[in-house]
Amino acid sequence: MPSPSPPVLPISEHEDEIVAAVDTNPVVVVIGETGSGKSTQLSQILHRRGYTRRGAIAVTQPRRVAAVSVSRRVAQELGVPLGDEVGYAIRFEDRTSERTCIKYLTDGVLLRESLSNPDLKQYSVIILDEAHERSLNTDILLGLMKRLVKDRASDLKVLITSATLDGLKVSEFFSGCPVLNIPGTLFPVEKFYSTERPTNYIESSLRTAIDIHAKEPPGDVLIFMTGKDDIDKMVSKLEERIQNLEEGSCMDALVLPLHGSLPPELQVRVFAPAPPNCRRFIVATNVAETSLTVDGVVFVIDCGYVKQRQYNPSSGMYSLDVVQISRVQADQRAGRAGRTRPGKCYRLYPMSIYQKEFLEATVPEIQRSSLAGSVLYLKSLNLPDINILKFDFLDPPSRESLEDALRQLYLIDAIDENGQITDVGRIMAELPLEPSLSRTLIEANELGCLSQALTVAAILSAEITLRSTRSKDMEGKRKRQELPDGSGWGDHIQLLQIFESWDQTGYDPRWCSDHDLQVRGMKLSKDVRNQLCQIIQKIAKGAPIFCTGR
Ligand code: ADP
Ligand code: MG
Repeated sequence: MPSPSPPVLPISEHEDEIVAAVDTNPVVVVIGETGSGKSTQLSQILHRRGYTRRGAIAVTQPRRVAAVSVSRRVAQELGVPLGDEVGYAIRFEDRTSERTCIKYLTDGVLLRESLSNPDLKQYSVIILDEAHERSLNTDILLGLMKRLVKDRASDLKVLITSATLDGLKVSEFFSGCPVLNIPGTLFPVEKFYSTERPTNYIESSLRTAIDIHAKEPPGDVLIFMTGKDDIDKMVSKLEERIQNLEEGSCMDALVLPLHGSLPPELQVRVFAPAPPNCRRFIVATNVAETSLTVDGVVFVIDCGYVKQRQYNPSSGMYSLDVVQISRVQADQRAGRAGRTRPGKCYRLYPMSIYQKEFLEATVPEIQRSSLAGSVLYLKSLNLPDINILKFDFLDPPSRESLEDALRQLYLIDAIDENGQITDVGRIMAELPLEPSLSRTLIEANELGCLSQALTVAAILSAEITLRSTRSKDMEGKRKRQELPDGSGWGDHIQLLQIFESWDQTGYDPRWCSDHDLQVRGMKLSKDVRNQLCQIIQKIAKGAPIFCTGR
């Protein structure tokens, strides 16, 4: 496989400085613009400088798509097959081997590894990447690293990297560790505001995109949308409008979606260079804000919204809401236009909204999540002297949300009235699922319906949409067959019935397409189900709580 020569990125230009800091300090914070090479170069630098002789380098990512994409890139730069020296591990998918010495993994997977191996001895370096995302799991890891660097003072290096994070705050958290600010080259980005909020931001983005295409010189366009549905809509409408443009009036165009649930082979398309005389439109979620850098972007269209998961403690439920972005996010999005030359950012909202309505920074996930899973995790670590209510957090969650978590865990018997983790709680912590789902499996086992519950849990936690996007052609419509409807027992039973019908066909992919279901999503559920089965079988050996088998 030809390996492209590694680009000279700001991080690489400061190699000596970085290595000197890491050599002499247990914890180093590295701050550098998005695209400066933090995710792809730091691990390679430390590998070159011998840090992988004593153990592997772990690089955490809050997003699965970033773990996969960045590891793929690093393997390519080093000219090795993915899964050998360079690999990745995300929930339900491990692409590493004994040879792996640079391992990209989600922060959740690293937390899980530390359950069975609290010292994380296999690693000589742990890089908490994208710390500015302030994902719940990265925040927990920050607290754990603070303990770990004391226990492993002689043989562990921790790096914390960020595009925007307040370096001083993290440095204070780690008793004054050095902060390296890597200057990047960011060209000026001219910002244009709408006079008012559009009633339909898809329509408004479309118009702006076509306008750019018709009037602006070459340069790719990055369009921020909130989620997959918007992106799909936007992609097909934009393609349609481009086709309707007068022949020869504009250069060629290529419209590409980019989001976390895109199959990997489609994700990589955005990293391939554009064909000559062709403008690319990349329609993305906020994965393109800081996690993935797409080269060639000169124009950015920012709808000003993001999809965010929030927890409502009074109902005990999560909701996925479209909310306004923060000013930090808006500036990150605009910055994507200025990586290679001066760019333009079209904000589909008035400046007054940016100034007065947007929050300064995004609320860290830890302050808008259920902490039941994290608290159960911390309890199962058996750390000495740990008091959850006093755990060392960079930004502590509210006392109410910690108490809410303890109450939830008590209600499902994961902890007892003294707050001690129970046997059931320990089993739950071993399952890579939300505590309530883990508890469901244990209960189902007692009621003799573990197999069915596993199916439902697998579909729910594969986080996929089973329905494929409606095909436009009438042929398809005629052939589409009715799905099981849950017989009045609700969504979960419907999911179970769907899976069981598919099972009866011997997992025939044609059955999925005939029923308008995404083959990939269905296969993933099957795969996740198998993995959950294996994990349960392993647990059952140690704790006879589970009787496995159908
Ligand atoms: P940072 O983490 O500092 O934001 P990265 O290390 O992700 O920066 O990216 C550095 C450079 O590598 C960018 O120019 C980016 O476009 C390129 N790059 C990153 N991932 C890939 C990939 N999968 N394919 C091609 N180029 C990539
Ligand atoms: Mg990065």
